[in-house]
Amino acid sequence: DDLADLRRKIEALDVGSEERKVGIREWRRLKRIPQGSVENGVIRSYLEWLTSVPWPSNSTTTPLDILKDHSFLTRARAQLDADHYGLDQIKRRLMEYLAVVRLRALADAAQTQTQGDNPSTDASPGAAPTPPTKSKGVKGPILLFVGPPGTGKTSLGQSIAKALGRPFQRISLGGVRDEAEIRGHRRTYVASSPGSIVQALRKAGRNDPVILLDEVDKVGHSNFHGDPAAALLEVLDPEQNHSFNDHYINVPIDLSQVLFICTSNTLDTISAPLLDRCEVVELSGYTYDEKMHIAKRFLLPKQICANGLSDSQLTLTDDALLHVATMYTREAGVRSLERAIGAVVRFKAVEWAEWLDKENGAMGEEWNAKQNENRSEKQDGNTNVNGSGKEWRAIVEAHELEKILGIPRWDGEERDREEKRGVVYGLVVTGMGEGGILPVESTALPGTGRLKLTGSLGDVIKESGEIALSWVKTHAFELGITAGRGVDPLKVPDVIDVHLHLPAGAQKKDGPSAGIAMICAFVSLLSGACVPKDIAMTGEITLRGRVTPVGGIRMKVLGAHRAQIRKVILPWANRKDVEHDVALEVRREMQFFFVRTIDEALDAAF
Ligand code: ATP
Ligand code: MG
Repeated sequence: DDLADLRRKIEALDVGSEERKVGIREWRRLKRIPQGSVENGVIRSYLEWLTSVPWPSNSTTTPLDILKDHSFLTRARAQLDADHYGLDQIKRRLMEYLAVVRLRALADAAQTQTQGDNPSTDASPGAAPTPPTKSKGVKGPILLFVGPPGTGKTSLGQSIAKALGRPFQRISLGGVRDEAEIRGHRRTYVASSPGSIVQALRKAGRNDPVILLDEVDKVGHSNFHGDPAAALLEVLDPEQNHSFNDHYINVPIDLSQVLFICTSNTLDTISAPLLDRCEVVELSGYTYDEKMHIAKRFLLPKQICANGLSDSQLTLTDDALLHVATMYTREAGVRSLERAIGAVVRFKAVEWAEWLDKENGAMGEEWNAKQNENRSEKQDGNTNVNGSGKEWRAIVEAHELEKILGIPRWDGEERDREEKRGVVYGLVVTGMGEGGILPVESTALPGTGRLKLTGSLGDVIKESGEIALSWVKTHAFELGITAGRGVDPLKVPDVIDVHLHLPAGAQKKDGPSAGIAMICAFVSLLSGACVPKDIAMTGEITLRGRVTPVGGIRMKVLGAHRAQIRKVILPWANRKDVEHDVALEVRREMQFFFVRTIDEALDAAF
């Protein structure tokens, strides 16, 4: 009857469809093969898989609900707002996207209706499995969420699925080297199985889930296990994905109804063809102000609930939250913040539990009996009140944090800067996507005009150093780098070696954006003038003395603001980034110098 069961499932598949033909063929083979043999098991599990793929016939897809529901967009917006604070531009973009999804569904439905008049439904036997209702409208682009860790990419994907009322599945592509992980192993291979796409479809149980392809930037490229990136392209390409071929299932599967969303931490490592198919939505990170709101409205309630407390019992003062964010985390997103808040909440949960035990112990048997009585009446049983009506509450203030979280990890180290000859502050974005300032240190020692560079520097940043020194040498006279004693100014740099260092020495650094900071450091070193310590700068330089634009402006400016830098020197061409991406309250507290040339940069710095 096991066989009969499989047979029933196969017969439920569309008449005339490929999957049904294959299913019947395999089922007949299975019948002939003795039970308990390896082959028998292999075919059996194949048929289990084959019949559990959500084919059009056994998928419960009903796009109709989003058609009939005229408040769909309002509800969708409410869903996005309920799950995420801020991100206004991104939410607007997602709403456009959802509106298009709905309009397309409407168009499709209209098309099906006109076709419904001539009886081309599955009933006619032997009808070729051509899907006449295939969406002719333009397929919406695939969304690609790009941003540093913990900025809400994955959870936005979840939110979209909820808004659409579709199941959500996540496929992690990080470190996928083998094409078979996406596309499945051929059945000749022992213990073979379908790839992650089919597995996700099966778990979703519908052919139109939202599938989040996590970390597409970390998928492997062509190697001797095949080419996972190419498989991924096929999955995402609307021209091809209506007949996706999983090697294990070996019957084309229609993925055209699946809503794919990709996430990635950077754009740098994504292949051009993939990027070309995606619409990039950038999540660049939160300001402290935004983090405070997110913490209060989302992270703290979530952690309180997860640890069995109730909202009314535990409060963190604003001061304490800000303290956690600034002193214990350094990130663009909010993941470490969430973790740190979780640690605080757990600490308090333990105190509460101990308090309960103590109080209850003191009350003895009588209390326990009464407690049980209460339980049976009130199922939620979450008692922050003990038998005598005493309540347990806690307010966590900033000064308590050291007891709970230990010594702050980022104790204002950026704030005690020094104003010193040869030292200038540059702006950086770290691997975590967090902006900050970085001292550029230079010193001179007797030598022959060479440049020594240290601090785990990459090739590009080293070249910036060379350009900077060459420029300073050729302009030594105008810069007044004469060093007195009647020496030919151009020759001064030749009797010294310049050593440039970027701490922290173990952190890899690269990129051209330290250019103007290096120039200023050298000028300061050779002229003896200091750059004030509340100035920081970023910008690429050219040998001809131009300053060209750089990336990461938003996070750099936010990092500088946090470090209490009040004057920032930036390339002229980055004006728009400051205006678009930096919150007004931050901009108001800072002064920006937009420069086109190195001369202008020096004017602003000295
Ligand atoms: P990664 O690149 O590491 O995968 P991610 O961008 O996918 O990071 P998420 O897992 O989506 O990060 O977010 C981390 C946590 O922060 C989640 O709990 C999420 O709900 C929360 N979060 C992020 N942004 C917001 C926001 N704007 N409002 C509320 N919660 C947020
Ligand atoms: Mg994620």
